[in-house]
Amino acid sequence: MTNIYLKKNSDEARVLMIYTGGTIGMGPKTKGDPTSPLVPKPFNELLEFLPGLDEEPDGNGFRVDEGRGIHVEYDDTVFDEPLDSSNVGPRHWVKIARVIEKHYADFDGFVILHGTDTMSYTGSGLAFILENLTKPVVLTGSQLPISHVRTDGRNNVINAILIAGWRATFLPRIPEVVLCFGEKILRAVRTTKVSASGFHGFDSPNCQPLGTIGMDIVINEDFIPKEADLPKSPLKVHDIEKRVLNKGMRIRRIGVDPGLDEEWLNTLLEAKHLRGLILETFGTGNAPTNPEICEAFRTGIFREKAEDRWPWVVVNITDCPEGAVELGLYDGSSAFLESGVVSGSDMTREAAFAKIHWALASQPEIRLLRSLQISQRGEQSLNIFDFRYKGGSSITPDSPYSDTQTTPRELSSRAFVEQAVVRLRNITCNKNVGDTVRLHILVNEPDPRNECIGDPSVLQSILEVDWQGKPTFVCVDVTELFRKHQIPTDVTLSIVVEDNTIIDFDSLYLAIATRAHNAVYHS
Ligand code: ASP
Repeated sequence: MTNIYLKKNSDEARVLMIYTGGTIGMGPKTKGDPTSPLVPKPFNELLEFLPGLDEEPDGNGFRVDEGRGIHVEYDDTVFDEPLDSSNVGPRHWVKIARVIEKHYADFDGFVILHGTDTMSYTGSGLAFILENLTKPVVLTGSQLPISHVRTDGRNNVINAILIAGWRATFLPRIPEVVLCFGEKILRAVRTTKVSASGFHGFDSPNCQPLGTIGMDIVINEDFIPKEADLPKSPLKVHDIEKRVLNKGMRIRRIGVDPGLDEEWLNTLLEAKHLRGLILETFGTGNAPTNPEICEAFRTGIFREKAEDRWPWVVVNITDCPEGAVELGLYDGSSAFLESGVVSGSDMTREAAFAKIHWALASQPEIRLLRSLQISQRGEQSLNIFDFRYKGGSSITPDSPYSDTQTTPRELSSRAFVEQAVVRLRNITCNKNVGDTVRLHILVNEPDPRNECIGDPSVLQSILEVDWQGKPTFVCVDVTELFRKHQIPTDVTLSIVVEDNTIIDFDSLYLAIATRAHNAVYHS
């Protein structure tokens, strides 16, 4: 570690800057030849282009505000040599996290100079690896090298230092990993690189910026935890290196293209050591639904389980920059519910990649899938809870359906229910084509029977199906039923049918989405 600017004065802020490489510190490979490819240069060459960080009379501090200084120490030894960020991977995230852990008590905040190509991956990785953060970790870099006359790097670095040095600047303390780039301060775990050349560089399409940078730096305090809510437990570093990478577990992403064929999919799903798959699907989570494709997913996932090669997870995220996966909204994604694919909600691909590493490293097998569907670091707006109820037997007026599932503790009675939906797959009935079939879905009714229909004291919703003569997928919104009443530990769903009606179905799902406690919504 190089101590360049340090002044021992306890009431001023202390920031540790970690240099990893990236365009910000790059110059031509061949000295004097501006056309040769850019490569990262040693940190001292970058420092030459940061005049102004050296403004204290004694030359050992960066002065901000009236008489208060931020003292910046530098660590350029985190990697053996500075890297283009396309060479930075999960092992490097752990290295950076270890440096932060080592110096955590000595600094008010941390600035990481990083290449832009994978900055969102590293930011997401650090957000998951570093649990119980109470200090800002600010990633920044630039589109033009700091040596360039029009560089965006200088502003980015200075803004990042001001945010990390909150104690001296009196800016609100942001106790999480953020990206400070161009005019925005973004929650790292929601970001993605959106421009290969624009100075704005990044965005967090499903989450409002935590702050903006103009003449003033403005941080929206409603979007960050209050001082009183800061974690009380000490910083914890999740060792994804030991528990995931050194065990050879691989996490990969594939995109669904039109006309996806099962042969290719099968080959991929058989890949050795694949433990986590991010499936980037169309729109709200859809993919081609021919039976062979569905079967490839189903057997791919369950084969691993059968051969006792758990853990193995598939997370479905949308290929759209904005919006979320909603499994079962269309038939095109309801097959995923059957095959154990989990909903990635509105997570970015970077967050999903980091979250699977974290989950495999830290979660017991029994909690693995659930932990992936719940917001851990503000990476998704909603927590998703999927329950599979038994299917199979015929429902008649005399033999209503009833089954109970236990809800996990995360789905507490205080949770705000954004949406609750019941889905039934492959419904068939004894009616004539064109008839309307009415099913009455009852929640927590101890004695479900025909007399309950219309009884205002019974929590119920009506599902109307226009019978077309072939197995049908149907869903009914039951949000109001769950909003009106506290979510109990056990949720019993019953189905009562009207006279002269008999129905059958394969499977029944209840999906409850609650608002994540640390979510920042787009207006
Ligand atoms: N290739 C560079 C990197 O990611 C791009 C940049 O920093 O803007 O390291």
